[in-house]
Amino acid sequence: MKNFIIFGPPGAGKGSQCIILSKRYNFKHISTGDILREEVKRESELGLKAKNLMDKGELVSDALIIAIIERVLVNSNGVAGFLYDGFPRTVKQSEALEALLIKLGQKIDAVISLQTDEDVIIQRIQGRAAIEGREDDARTDVVKKRLEVYREQTHPLIEIYKKKGIYHPINGNLTIEQNFAEICEFIDQQ
Ligand code: AMP
Repeated sequence: MKNFIIFGPPGAGKGSQCIILSKRYNFKHISTGDILREEVKRESELGLKAKNLMDKGELVSDALIIAIIERVLVNSNGVAGFLYDGFPRTVKQSEALEALLIKLGQKIDAVISLQTDEDVIIQRIQGRAAIEGREDDARTDVVKKRLEVYREQTHPLIEIYKKKGIYHPINGNLTIEQNFAEICEFIDQQ
């Protein structure tokens, strides 16, 4: 079982890469944002708890997110590995993932980090807002907040993964196809 974290700020292109990578390698794509949006749509208890925070661009509690990940990992059979998209987003989440993987006899193989410039990010988020109709993409103040939350709570994970020797940055400003080729080349060596 392989475990790859696809890392980067909101709008870096993580989701697009995960969709095609999961098909190529038979990996399960775990997007905590997609899972939460599904729960919001179903108006589940979890969705109701998460909605307010998501609308404001703030993070949902670590405990909720970790419970989601645990449920998905334990209930996934027949896949060659996992791609984490939008998770972990805090130090606590990264520690929980590590502990969970140890329990399952697995480890994080690499953190593939999409280094995408802020102007490209804004363009991508605006494009996505038009296509997917995500409310948190359409409001400039919420996009700003999400980028700020990323810088404060998620960006510090880079140092942690660098120290572990599993951090692998790639240029996220290229086309989807170019980024995909670069990531595949890396994954094929793992
Ligand atoms: P995303 O689709 O990954 O941009 O996530 C959309 C929103 O869902 C975020 O702005 C957060 O409110 C929430 N969310 C998604 N993943 C996480 C996570 N790992 N930890 C906390 N909140 C999350």
